[in-house]
Amino acid sequence: MLLTISTTHKPATDLGYLMHKNPIRCQSSDLAFGTVHIFYPEANEDKCSMAMVLDIDPVEIIRSRKRISGTQLEQYINDRPYVASSFVSVAIAQVLGSALKGQCKDRPELIELEMPLVVKISVLPSRGGQEILYRLFEPLGYEMSIEGYRLDEKYEEWGQSSYYTVELKKTTTVKELLSHLYVLIPVLDNHKHYYIGRDEVEKLLQRGQGWLAHHPEKELIAKRYLKFRSSLAREALARLVEEEISEIDEENASTEEEAEREISLNEERLKTVISVLKETDVKKVIDLGCGEGQLLKLLLKEKQFEQILGMDVSIRSLEIARQKLHLDNLPATQRKRIELIHGSLMYRDKRFEGFDAATVIEVIEHMDPPRLVAFERVVFEFAKPKTVIITTPNKEYNVVWETLEADKLRHGDHRFEWTREEFQNWCETITQKYDYQVRFMSIGPEQERVGCPTQMGVFTALE
Ligand code: SAH
Repeated sequence: MLLTISTTHKPATDLGYLMHKNPIRCQSSDLAFGTVHIFYPEANEDKCSMAMVLDIDPVEIIRSRKRISGTQLEQYINDRPYVASSFVSVAIAQVLGSALKGQCKDRPELIELEMPLVVKISVLPSRGGQEILYRLFEPLGYEMSIEGYRLDEKYEEWGQSSYYTVELKKTTTVKELLSHLYVLIPVLDNHKHYYIGRDEVEKLLQRGQGWLAHHPEKELIAKRYLKFRSSLAREALARLVEEEISEIDEENASTEEEAEREISLNEERLKTVISVLKETDVKKVIDLGCGEGQLLKLLLKEKQFEQILGMDVSIRSLEIARQKLHLDNLPATQRKRIELIHGSLMYRDKRFEGFDAATVIEVIEHMDPPRLVAFERVVFEFAKPKTVIITTPNKEYNVVWETLEADKLRHGDHRFEWTREEFQNWCETITQKYDYQVRFMSIGPEQERVGCPTQMGVFTALE
C-alpha cells in the first residue's frame, strides 16, 4: 500500500516538520498488523513528498485474530496488503499522530498554515465506485483525478473493478488533510478490520470536527464509518447536529453578554458554585456543558478538587477551553487533575459516572424542553453524582435590564427561560422521580418582586 503527500509550499521541507518525520531518514515502525515505512522520495526547497508504505502481513493479521471474513484461503490471500483501508487510518493515528492532532512543538506557526497539498493513493477501493469518491471529496474542496481499471483487460464485459488510483489536490492545513483521509479512506473501503465500539463515535466526531457537520454526505459517512451499527450512527449524527447548533449559538451570544456585563453576574455565579462545592467533601467534579472552561479554571485553583472533568458538545468550545486553561503547559501534577471530553447530555455515558458532584451551569436553557427528560435520566439515573448543581436564568428578572426588550430571552439560543416557580417545579419533579432532594439558592443582586438574575438548584442524593 502506497500513499504520498506532496507540497510545493516554500520552503517545501516544512512538510517534514509538520509530519514530525525528518526527510533525511527512512523511518519504520512496527504495528500490530505489519510495518509502516515513512520516507521522502523528494525533499528540497521547491518540492517535498512524503511517502507512506504499509507492509501488511496477512499472517500477522490472522495471528492477532483480526480476521478478515471469508474462507480460509481468503484469510491469507486478499487485497489488504495492497489497498488503502482502515489500516491506513491506524497508521496515520499512530505514526503521524502529532500531525493529525495539529501539534508541532518546534514550529507551532505551521499548524494553521494552509499549503498546496497533493495526495496520491495508488490503490483505493471504493464501494459504490467513482461516484462515491466524488461525493465524498468534492464537497471538501478537493480537485480530483481518478483512474479506474478494468477487471480484466481481455474480458471487457466483466466491467470495472472497484479499485482506483486517486490524486487529490487542495490548499489546506496538513492536519485537516490527514483528518479527511483518516475518516474517508475506511468509509470508501467499507471494510473495517477492528471491532466498532462506542469509542469509534468519539473518534469520528473528533476527526470530523469542523467539516463533518456540514458535509452533505454526513449520513453515509457516519453509517459506513460505524459499519452500519445504526444506533451508533444515529448518535453520531445527532451529536453532529448539536455541534452545528452550538456553533450558531456562539455567534448569537452578544445580547446576554451585554446584559450581564454590568454586574459581572457570571463571576458571582461561578464563585457561588465553588463555595457550595467547598462546603461538602467533594473531590471529583464533572462540569457538564463546561463551555470555554471558566468554572474549570476556578476548580483547578482549589486543591480540594482532585479530579476535574469538563464535558461539552461543542468541540470548538473545548478547544478554546484547552487553550485558556493552558492544558498543554500545565505542570504534571496539575495536568493529572483535569481532563476535557467531548460528549452530550442527551446520551448515557459511562465516563460521567463515579463523580462526587456534577455542575450544569447555564446549560439546560440551551436544550429543547422535550429533551430535558433524556437529560434528567443521564444525570440522575445513570451518572448519579452525590451532588448536582444546576443554574439557569430567572426570566422574571429580565425586566430589570434596560438593554433587553420585554419578553426577549437573554440569549439568541435559549430555548426557554423559566420563572422561579417554573424552575422549582421542574426540580421538584426530578426529586419525585429520582432519589434526590433539592434546595434553591439565588445569585446576583436581588430586586423586589422579581428576585435575582440567576437561580440555582442544589440536589443531594438521599443516602
Ligand atoms: N457552563 C459554561 C457554558 C454555558 S453555555 C459556563 O457557565 O460558562 C452552554 C454550554 O452548553 C455550551 O458550551 C454548549 O455547547 C453546551 N451544551 C448545549 N447542549 C449540550 C448538550 N446536549 N450536551 C453537552 N453540552 C451541551
